[in-house]
Amino acid sequence: MTTLPPSTREQGVAPDAAVLWRALDALAARAGEPRAFRACADDPLRLVSRLITMLDQQMREKERLTLALDSRHDGLWDWDLRTGEMFLSSAWKAGLGYRDEQFGNDRAAWESMIHTDDLPMVQDRIWRHLRGEGEDFHVEYRLRGASGEWLWIATHGRIVMRDEEGKPSRIVGTHRNVTERKGWELELLRAKEVAESASRAKSDFLANMSHEIRTPMNGIIGMTELALDTQLDAEQRGYLQTVKSSADALLSIINDILDFSKIEAGKLELEEIEFSLPAVIGDTFKALALRGHQKGLELVFSIAPDTPQVLRGDPNRLRQVLMNLLGNAIKFTDKGEVSLNAHTVSREDGRVRIEVAVRDTGIGIEQSKQFEIFDAFSQADTSTTRRFGGTGLGLAICRKLVELMRGRIWVASESGKGSDFHFTFEAGVVRNQVKTESIDNSYQRMKVLVVEDNATTAREVGENLRCWGFQVSVAASGEEADAALKLMAKIGDAFDLMIVDANMPDPGGFALPSRFHDAGACCDRVIMMLNSDTQRNDAARCRQLGVRSNVVKPLTPSDLLDAIRLALMPVQDEPEVTLAEFQIDEQLLHAGAAKPERRQEVLLVEDNPVNQTVATKIMQRAGYEVTVAGDGQEAIEWFEKKRFDLILMDVQMPVLGGIEATKAIRAREARRSWAMSGRWEVTPIIAMTAHVMQGDRERCLEAGMDDYVSKPIQPAELFAAIERVAKRLETTDFEGIAVSQLADQNCLLQIEHGVADLEQTRTLLEGDEASVDSLVAIFLGDLGKNCVQLEKAVVTNDGKTIGALAHSLKSSVGVFGAALAADAALMVEVAARKGELEAAKKAVPALIAELNRLSAYLRRYLENKQA
Ligand code: ADP
Repeated sequence: MTTLPPSTREQGVAPDAAVLWRALDALAARAGEPRAFRACADDPLRLVSRLITMLDQQMREKERLTLALDSRHDGLWDWDLRTGEMFLSSAWKAGLGYRDEQFGNDRAAWESMIHTDDLPMVQDRIWRHLRGEGEDFHVEYRLRGASGEWLWIATHGRIVMRDEEGKPSRIVGTHRNVTERKGWELELLRAKEVAESASRAKSDFLANMSHEIRTPMNGIIGMTELALDTQLDAEQRGYLQTVKSSADALLSIINDILDFSKIEAGKLELEEIEFSLPAVIGDTFKALALRGHQKGLELVFSIAPDTPQVLRGDPNRLRQVLMNLLGNAIKFTDKGEVSLNAHTVSREDGRVRIEVAVRDTGIGIEQSKQFEIFDAFSQADTSTTRRFGGTGLGLAICRKLVELMRGRIWVASESGKGSDFHFTFEAGVVRNQVKTESIDNSYQRMKVLVVEDNATTAREVGENLRCWGFQVSVAASGEEADAALKLMAKIGDAFDLMIVDANMPDPGGFALPSRFHDAGACCDRVIMMLNSDTQRNDAARCRQLGVRSNVVKPLTPSDLLDAIRLALMPVQDEPEVTLAEFQIDEQLLHAGAAKPERRQEVLLVEDNPVNQTVATKIMQRAGYEVTVAGDGQEAIEWFEKKRFDLILMDVQMPVLGGIEATKAIRAREARRSWAMSGRWEVTPIIAMTAHVMQGDRERCLEAGMDDYVSKPIQPAELFAAIERVAKRLETTDFEGIAVSQLADQNCLLQIEHGVADLEQTRTLLEGDEASVDSLVAIFLGDLGKNCVQLEKAVVTNDGKTIGALAHSLKSSVGVFGAALAADAALMVEVAARKGELEAAKKAVPALIAELNRLSAYLRRYLENKQA
């Protein structure tokens, strides 16, 4: 309570007046005006009149406020924290159906009316405000009305007075009956939940439906492909080709509808994985090249040099957008060219915004349709649907996908002249370069003649060559090429290399190397640029003419560089298989299946008989020995009995699913590997799944699978996955990792954690503690011998043994989650494999140090267990 200063109370005031002073003191405090009181403390009459004026003013304000609140059906409350009294306006009580006396004027009376579920929240909100949170507080809760029903009340309040110590002493606020509004909100919420659950049900239904449709589709497409591979007459072949193209079209429609509904239901989430931008663009363009070249189109692509090459994002969804734009560009263009350019728009905080442009010289799009085409099921010219097909969903999906990638998509086009589609997307930057291409210094002095009639291709090839240091001349026709050659001869000089478009009319194209050939000159410094449609015959022609090197359009810079290296290689180093032959073989070998040299064993785990047959035939045709397991349990049994080079694993199966089976196989593998060779030998497992929902890929990889293909199985995709896995296992991370880069990682060795993670070992061994202990014991038992051998190999400069030991140690320590030791072993292994003996030797002490740390840790672990 506010008190007067002792001087005022005690000096010159008669004892009976003290009572009056106290009363005035209290009044002043109630009025919240102790200072005003003090100002006229020596003149009681003035003080009394001052107080009366103030109280009168306050009464008027309160009346006005009450009137305003009553007219809005709001109630006023005023809570004195010192006495606990809480004034609640009668009008508000009446609004709830109470007479004034039915609802007490204190906090307890108010709280007793609040719904017990809501009371803690209300108290907490007020308590937090009292502790200083927020200028005011707002809370909504249920309060019982006079007739027993629950009413929703919104209460707003604020501290309006504090005592001299600054503690809150009074809170004032309003109550409002918001039952009606709350009713709508709840109604809306319920409707939203219903809609969401309907959309979830729709999406689940579509996912299941896709599974159900894809399985028979797998049978149709697979069996048709197999039948097309048999002896057929022309009529039968025609029928089957129609079946195949219709089935392909149906599958792509199903995929589009599924994607669209997934995006609509907000179910589509993007992945965040590392990928190479040039590889994604190059592979997508190459996949469509055959169609483009069959129509006689020139296909060109370029990526601006400032564009980071390794990104973090969703390569599959990016590929889908590219596939759609490039597919449309080829579909709607009859002559001319289709080009793709990518460049960086901006870069900030480890992220990059990239713009991709896909240009064509096709039918173009009318101005008025250029917005509409990005809507679902809309096509610029419905009359073209009959001719070109399509659902009108592709661009709608593209738009949604690029928006998910924080980008946008737009088009500039002119009817009859062509279209220019652009989109932007954001991604994380991992590295600027995939690997630093070691460009030969001798290129700096070399002269190269590019014979190409398409200006865009000539420009792109020329730019790349100049970048690598070549001096470039371009000839747009055979005649120009002849003139350039003659001019060089006249000045007693010659081109070091010629890059010639195979598809140019005479005297360009093949006429050029055939003239050299006829004149008895060596043609091994000519590179022919072939197109994917005619490459099979053209490559044979190259061989006949002695042209050793060729590339297939659309060219990637690395294709071109490989071809240049091959063309400039001395003849004695000539590889047995030329690039062209390799590419042809790939085409001929049933959509990319490289025939294994010996019959490899594959375990096919699949419950569906149709899928079983298709996958078996595909693998047998590629030369594999196939064992079929009908579910995960059978797969484990087979794995126990036999060694396989590869396992193809369905995910959804009865008895035991693919994820569980993989985990069990990995655990057995760890035990078996240790028992037999002391190092972990991995059997590649590739998931085959009709699942298309987000997260499936991660689930497969987390379970220990190495790669992933979706059903219906496309042979090309499957073999690409097999090749990827094989490459990864062969080179386990060391290809493309420069030793200097690893040396930078050396700083990792300073970090204490990473010595070992036995939790990983336990998970691997399905929690089998005894096995964990015996693995640790085996490892410790062998370690001394391994270290001695390693040191001996260093002394005798035996790089091969150093590499082999480091490789084996890397696998062994990996089982204990020893990231640092594994890194150190990898460093030694990479250097040794690259033939950099000195670097390998230099890295050995760090490895031994890490092994010592690991062994100390493992020994401590065993000691603690025994203690
Ligand atoms: P679809 O191609 O399956 O019909 P899209 O959504 O991919 O569906 O394309 C919608 C429409 O936009 C096409 O039907 C076509 O009319 C028009 N379109 C798209 N790309 C091009 C292009 N490169 N040239 C001309 N028209 C195009």
